[in-house]
Amino acid sequence: MRLIILGPPGSGKGTQSDIIKEKMELEKLSTGDLLRSEINKESPVGLEAKQFMDKGELVPDAVMIDILGIYIDKFEKEGKGYILDGFPRTKPQAEALMKMLKEKNAPLSAAILVDVAEEKVIKRLTNRWTCKNCQAIFNYLDGLPKDEKCSKCGGKLYQRSDDKKETIINRLKVYKKNTEPLIEYFQQNDLLVTVSGEGNIESIMENIIKLLEK
Ligand SMILES: [Zn+2]
Repeated sequence: MRLIILGPPGSGKGTQSDIIKEKMELEKLSTGDLLRSEINKESPVGLEAKQFMDKGELVPDAVMIDILGIYIDKFEKEGKGYILDGFPRTKPQAEALMKMLKEKNAPLSAAILVDVAEEKVIKRLTNRWTCKNCQAIFNYLDGLPKDEKCSKCGGKLYQRSDDKKETIINRLKVYKKNTEPLIEYFQQNDLLVTVSGEGNIESIMENIIKLLEK
């Protein structure tokens, strides 16, 4: 099983990919973690990626593909399936990934899209509060507690700048612009599995499994 998971920020796709990973006994490939690990190991691709990051630039798609290729080769050799989170984010990245998988004769099984209505995402993300003292994160969908204090340590709660409404609306705009062509691409390739991100995690899982079995 070779899966990728897509979804807007705040869709809960991170949690869902962890559960899918457990239930289907897959390896999780999170591009952020892979990058950190390769840089720490000072591997050739890690060092290459670091050069761009040190300059404040994005790691080029070709370098990301090389890094992914290392892990994919390893899993293929071990006969393990995987779920890829954090890549691709654009259509050119998807095309490059599909080309690599084709060359490895290890085609993608499905692209899972966690679909959540935009208002829901905005509501989830803008209700996120962080404790100044212990950094705990709380979601208060019905508003802040009256004393505006952390229930764990009593510290003051505040909203991180990336949890503010304008920032979130902007992030969603960028997501939409990049992801719409990506979704269309997977749809055309008959690989898209859309699941609602609004049910509970168990029922979302069941939907994914049912759709994959088809
Ligand atoms: Zn606290």
